[in-house]
Amino acid sequence: MAHALITHGHADHARAGHGHVLATQETLDIMRLRYGDDFAASTQAIRFGETMTINGVNVRFHPAGHVLGSAQIAVEQKDMRIVVSGDYKRQADPTCPGFEPVACDVFITEATFALPVFRHPDAAHEIALLMKSVAQFPERCHIVGAYALGKAQRVISLIRQAGYDKPIYIHGALQKLCEYYQSQGIDLGELKPATLEEGEPQDFAGAIVIGPPSAFVDRWARRFPDPLACFASGWMRIRQRAKQQGVELPLIISDHCDWDELTETIREIDPAQVWVTHGREEALVRWCALSGIPARPLHLVGYEDEGD
Ligand SMILES: [Zn+2]
Repeated sequence: MAHALITHGHADHARAGHGHVLATQETLDIMRLRYGDDFAASTQAIRFGETMTINGVNVRFHPAGHVLGSAQIAVEQKDMRIVVSGDYKRQADPTCPGFEPVACDVFITEATFALPVFRHPDAAHEIALLMKSVAQFPERCHIVGAYALGKAQRVISLIRQAGYDKPIYIHGALQKLCEYYQSQGIDLGELKPATLEEGEPQDFAGAIVIGPPSAFVDRWARRFPDPLACFASGWMRIRQRAKQQGVELPLIISDHCDWDELTETIREIDPAQVWVTHGREEALVRWCALSGIPARPLHLVGYEDEGD
């Protein structure tokens, strides 16, 4: 696209190769880390709440509470304001500013977990389960699968909030993003590379290792001593899915809204219309209809979810 407005750095929302990219400074930094310096012909940073006018349309970015730098985008012309949520959540996250409800005529919402079965417990509760397991099995290595952008840093931050102050070991794929979060003032404590070459396997007994889902399913994870597989994702609500993936300790931690957060957000914003995209469109469109809110699905082709 000649002109792209980007909500956040996940691969299903941020692609390389656009002409001009407008995004928060953090999202531009993250795209640079992931795609290299030439990810766009030109870039421009916008601050939360700042208004820019593009071809007569006012554009503002507002915090989405999803990952560092994540934004909703409000576009406004005459009396019509449309807000694109991007991905968002309402649970507190120590690694990014919280979602800000913005009054609008049309609210375009994501719907990754838009089924009543999806209810995310408090993330601190899930981390308490991890801490309990670490205390209970001091000889085992707890390997936590978490998406590289956002989820991994949030999980580390929550582990620190729970009082764990030993080094946390990270897979190489997380290193650049963890360093970036730390450079932005997010305290992740002491992180060490989870490379077996540098130490004997027994060094990792009792340790917490964080790795991306891709590494988690391959041989990498099985090289650690008596590994206990954990996975931090909203999909872990589906126990069968956890079981199929060989996850011993599922942690229901999501950077997306659950069903209650979605419906409460729509009620709070009270838009004239809702357009639903990125997920389970039908259920949320149906809920809107039953609640007297005009709604329709907005199908985007070729977009796969990253970072649930
Ligand atoms: Zn995302």
